[in-house]
Amino acid sequence: MADRAPGGPEAERAPGRGATASDADRGWLSEAIELSRRCRPSPSAFCVGAVLVSADGTVMAQGFSRERDSRDHAEEAALATLDPGDLRLASATLYSSLEPCRFRASRPRSCSELIIAAGLRRVVIAWLEPPIFAKGGGAERLRDAGITVVEVPELAAEARAVNAPVLGAHGAGPT
Ligand SMILES: [Zn+2]
Repeated sequence: MADRAPGGPEAERAPGRGATASDADRGWLSEAIELSRRCRPSPSAFCVGAVLVSADGTVMAQGFSRERDSRDHAEEAALATLDPGDLRLASATLYSSLEPCRFRASRPRSCSELIIAAGLRRVVIAWLEPPIFAKGGGAERLRDAGITVVEVPELAAEARAVNAPVLGAHGAGPT
């Protein structure tokens, strides 16, 4: 925005724009990981948090796994609170502590499909879904749809640690 000084508070909160993570992106992704700590643990699903942020750095929606229903996914819970006609969606960035699902058993539409349908163009994630409960591949699906997917490996360990019990139970360590 022309009326905002570069480096001001808004600039620090505004999501990055490209295929690499900015400091603001890392900050928002950390908030998504914090949200994931609010999930009720499940032996058969990951704990995930998601935050949707508009181009000017405003939180549009947030959600976490099993927030209202045992089948809720984080991205789905966040998107469900939005007006599908919200004009900010095309320039917003979705932060998810885990790669959005491509395949799921619990409901017919995967989070990848919901993200594509919402018209989002940029997604930032901490780690890729390990093939424990479903095949991964969400990032590939999103990229195939022309969406920029940014992985932030330096936050992967923190996001995985929230899921240490379920990873351990399936023979995958938290590191
Ligand atoms: Zn999902």
